[in-house]
Amino acid sequence: MHKISLPKNPLINIAGSSDQFPIRRIFCVGKNYAAHVTEMGGDASKDTPIYFTKSAWSYIPSGSILEFPKGTNDLHHEIELVIAIGKTGSDISVGEAAEHIYGYAAGIDLTRRDLQAAAKNNGNPWDLAKDFEGSALIGDISTDMAHQLYQEGNILLEVNGEIRQSSNLNQMIWKIDEIIANLSQYYALEPGDLIMTGTPEGVSALNPGDHISGSITNIPPIQLTLK
Ligand code: MN
Repeated sequence: MHKISLPKNPLINIAGSSDQFPIRRIFCVGKNYAAHVTEMGGDASKDTPIYFTKSAWSYIPSGSILEFPKGTNDLHHEIELVIAIGKTGSDISVGEAAEHIYGYAAGIDLTRRDLQAAAKNNGNPWDLAKDFEGSALIGDISTDMAHQLYQEGNILLEVNGEIRQSSNLNQMIWKIDEIIANLSQYYALEPGDLIMTGTPEGVSALNPGDHISGSITNIPPIQLTLK
């Protein structure tokens, strides 16, 4: 048999630096903005956060031209603040959470919404809807707010120049420190881990040829083109 070489972890550029951030795991928070929960027909009560994961190999950088994903007739954009973890920790307290933050990026959680709806209806996992090649677009990481909680800033996504999502990070149900504290009750967080923190309202379907641009205040903007 031929030898299979060890794959290299995908790397994310760090703004203003020649260093790169090696991706370990990508955790995602679901249902974290009340107006988005409502548009999805859910209940926005603050019960317990919900999580799902994406493979590191689902990552693509900003500026990518992505072949339209297979197996869906309803591909949705979800712009999200992404937390980059820089310090190991389990059972992290809310007060200690900021120490674990390496930096922040903007991201797009691409979602095969039709497959997610079918999974929800049948009580099945979301993997087919959430974890596929290109489903985690993540922009350059800004370290300007390392060790700080980023709780207020505009979050915006446009498709072909038209605003689809526009909200503020202060609308998150679970705040950044609460997410890190809660997630670390279930996982030993490690440098290289990423947390996508959920999307505001305005998610909508994408088509081949669409150009998507996203921005979050004080963080490098992101771009995606669908073939
Ligand atoms: Mn999402």
